[in-house]
Amino acid sequence: MMQRGDRLIEAIAQIGKIVLEKQGEGSVVDQLVENPGYPACVLVAVRADEEGNVVWEGCEIEECGSDYKKYLFRSGSSRGTNYSPTAKITTIENTYEQKVIGWFRTVTRKMDHPVLRAIEQLLVQKKEAILQELREKLSLLTDRSLISLKMNGSYLYDCEPFRDAFLHLVHEKDMELSARDQVCAICGERKDTVIGKLSVFRFYTLDKPGFITGGFDEAKAWRNYPVCLSCKAHIEEGRKFVESHLHYRFYGFSYFVIPTLLIPAGKDVLDELLQYLTDGKKDIRVHQEQADSFMTTEEDLLGLMQDYDNSLSLQLLFLQKIQSAERILLLIEDVLPSRISELFQAKKATESLLYREGDHPFHFGFLRTFFRSGVYDKYFLQVVEYVFQKKPLSISFFAPFFMEQLRADFYDYEAGDWSFVNKTRQALAVVLFLEQAGVLVRKGEKAVQGKFAQLFDAYGGQLESPEKQAVFLLGALTQMLLDIQQQKRGSKPFVKQLMGLKMDEKAIKGLLPKVIGKLEEYESYYASHRQLAEEISHLFLSSSPSWKLSVDELNFYFACGMNLSWKVKEIVANKEEK
Ligand SMILES: [Zn+2]
Repeated sequence: MMQRGDRLIEAIAQIGKIVLEKQGEGSVVDQLVENPGYPACVLVAVRADEEGNVVWEGCEIEECGSDYKKYLFRSGSSRGTNYSPTAKITTIENTYEQKVIGWFRTVTRKMDHPVLRAIEQLLVQKKEAILQELREKLSLLTDRSLISLKMNGSYLYDCEPFRDAFLHLVHEKDMELSARDQVCAICGERKDTVIGKLSVFRFYTLDKPGFITGGFDEAKAWRNYPVCLSCKAHIEEGRKFVESHLHYRFYGFSYFVIPTLLIPAGKDVLDELLQYLTDGKKDIRVHQEQADSFMTTEEDLLGLMQDYDNSLSLQLLFLQKIQSAERILLLIEDVLPSRISELFQAKKATESLLYREGDHPFHFGFLRTFFRSGVYDKYFLQVVEYVFQKKPLSISFFAPFFMEQLRADFYDYEAGDWSFVNKTRQALAVVLFLEQAGVLVRKGEKAVQGKFAQLFDAYGGQLESPEKQAVFLLGALTQMLLDIQQQKRGSKPFVKQLMGLKMDEKAIKGLLPKVIGKLEEYESYYASHRQLAEEISHLFLSSSPSWKLSVDELNFYFACGMNLSWKVKEIVANKEEK
């Protein structure tokens, strides 16, 4: 059964496989064989049949050519055995005993293999005769020599039992939970040796599971995941590739974007993508001017992915480095390029509604502003997940986070600091982006008629009721007053009337006469202001008797109205001209 995380491991294995194929490195064994660098080799030739009958056929001597792989050499510890019975000869007696017979002893203790056991017995029984012949062969040599075996005329590299034992010894650490003759969870093939527990990632072996937004359970995800040795090699290579080419920083975290093949036909596309990531030469980018991501100000794979069809998907893995370990915070599985493309369109739409061309590109840093690092990480990542998965959230979830930040900057606003204005704009951008991305449901559009219809259509996706619209417009009217105050007095003392943006329904309703009174005091209660005030009163009157709005939500709409007062002004000014 598929579990969370399985797709991720498959994706990494797939990448590793492609990378290894590109390198032309055939098998897993090939990558592990070492070049002994000796000029000659003596070979003990044996013949073995299926029933486990073995005979010694004699010894051979040969010069080593460039094909060193056939000897299946890989050095082990100096006092122990190598990974195959091929060894560099120190003295023939010692090497034969320690590295050749010693190897068989080690292997037959660990693996049950009748042919290897039979050869071991043969080598012990015929020891003196074999050594005698080896000494004779070696006396012809002046140079250093290896000792190895041939079975049925084949070198060790071509003999299945020796290859198996070689891999078994190399992967011994992982073999504790290995099983024979099991189906590999990645390639689906029945293999001689399958490892039950994978220890490929540093972050696999965490004792404490972190808060995991997507219900990702590390312990469960990686346990009892049988993998064959060649798939293990693919995973290791894939991990290396992913760590060096697909790892990005993300506001105190980091993330991997891992492309995954969804249909076999996507293989060429994945090939091409990996090639691009490796050398960067081949230009496969269509959206040249939109290389940025919406994740951060840096480019990542998402910019490229928006141009792809859905033959690939993405696995997004978010991590936090804690000392030397990496903790998995969030795994988002199978994000399609079509979704990435939607998010880029949402980014673009948001920017064009709120900012000038090329000014302030939207990214998740806007969102991070309201979810402080180390305090609200969990909520921040939740929103990120919901964005990719297109799951709904409501504005009442966001309002407390927005208002905490906006209130913190509000008093400095009176003194002329712009942080409040900039942050309100960022909050608006987040709301618009999430609406475009289908996370915040737009409710306002059908409810509005009249001269503000267009405004609410563009910016008022959350303003579906008369009270919300009234609060928004009152925010705009209040901002007009503040601007006039700033102009006439060089300061904005009326800010004090706004109760640090903790106004409730009663305070909001009481604010309208105060704003009108102040405008009159400045002899600035123009026709446009009057029209706006009338609209607000009208909306108050048609609102429900009880608003059922939280203080945070209410003040957020008010702040949004303040921030967009220039848009409201355009509408009432146009009206005046007519
Ligand atoms: Zn496999």
